[in-house]
Amino acid sequence: MKHTITLIPGDGIGPDVTRAARIVLDAVDVGIEWDVVEAGEGVIEKYGTPLPEHVLESIKRNKVALKGPLTTPIGTGFRSVNVALRKALDLYANIRPAKSLPAVKTRYENVDIITVRENTEDLYAGIEHMVGEDAAESIKIITRAGSERIVRHAFELARREGRKKVTAVHKANIMKCTDGLFLEVARQVATEYSDIEFEDRIVDACSMKLVQKPEDFDVLVMPNLYGDIISDICAGLVGGLGVAPGANIGKDYAVFEPVHGSAPKYAGMDKVNPLATILSGVMMLKFIGEMEAADRVMKAINQVLEEGKYLTYDLGGSAKASEMAKAIAEKL
Ligand code: NAD
Repeated sequence: MKHTITLIPGDGIGPDVTRAARIVLDAVDVGIEWDVVEAGEGVIEKYGTPLPEHVLESIKRNKVALKGPLTTPIGTGFRSVNVALRKALDLYANIRPAKSLPAVKTRYENVDIITVRENTEDLYAGIEHMVGEDAAESIKIITRAGSERIVRHAFELARREGRKKVTAVHKANIMKCTDGLFLEVARQVATEYSDIEFEDRIVDACSMKLVQKPEDFDVLVMPNLYGDIISDICAGLVGGLGVAPGANIGKDYAVFEPVHGSAPKYAGMDKVNPLATILSGVMMLKFIGEMEAADRVMKAINQVLEEGKYLTYDLGGSAKASEMAKAIAEKL
């Protein structure tokens, strides 16, 4: 086998969507061996934690993982298993492409935006406490080093993917220290990439423009919280969570996963859209250098969408997740 990759099926709909992704990624035949490890709510009883050490060890060994969503259980001491995983592996860049797909009908036809979200700082640092009984405080952390590496990541990605523009999203007019620092660093880094246009936008105005004229945007880079929200807006522009893939990238490791959560009410029904996970798999194929295979999977996905015979409920069909995956695999 050419590539050993950690596979975390996850909670809720996770096993359904990762099984579907595996059907497609095995059919493209690039020699992937899966190192399957369990994490999430489902393993707390067995291991006493939703994120057992051997899961982190597997990712550290294999460097690359494909992951289903993990439910964040209440009262385990984990603010979020996903945040804990991103922190433990220093996966500082969260990449979420939103691209219109043929046959997925939305209000827009030509959306092609990549959100680059800082993944370790901002209000997600989780430093918050009560101040007395009637007030609460949360601390927003923005560092020069954290801002510089995420903005640089956005420009490098823009260059690699032949993109034309990077937009830094912020609220520096109000948060002059934190977002002010992020913007100052973004402007500095931009001077090193004269081949790529740079602009900045305030997050509220940017949200409005995104739904008015999404075709004006190309690569967006921003601190953690804005990235969480803006990337869901972008997912909505192209058809919703069922078609929104993502990647968490660090210096040493990469974890690919759909943007959506574990949607417990659909668990085990083989019903939800597996495309978000399959598209995360396409991002993974590119990351491990299997460009041609990534192209082939994209073509197969587009064929199945255009034929319209095997679509899940959210795309107006009634196919099961596994049927859609098998239809894509057959095209391969
Ligand atoms: P969710 O994304 O799980 O589900 C919200 C709704 O979106 C679903 O009810 C469903 O209607 C729709 N949806 C989601 N995925 C879909 C798919 N593949 N196809 C079609 N429709 C789909 O969000 P939630 O209900 O807020 O979160 C449930 C759990 O997931 C929580 O415990 C949360 O912490 C966790 N979560 C995990 C991740 C992750 O692992 N990265 C991300 C977000 C939420």
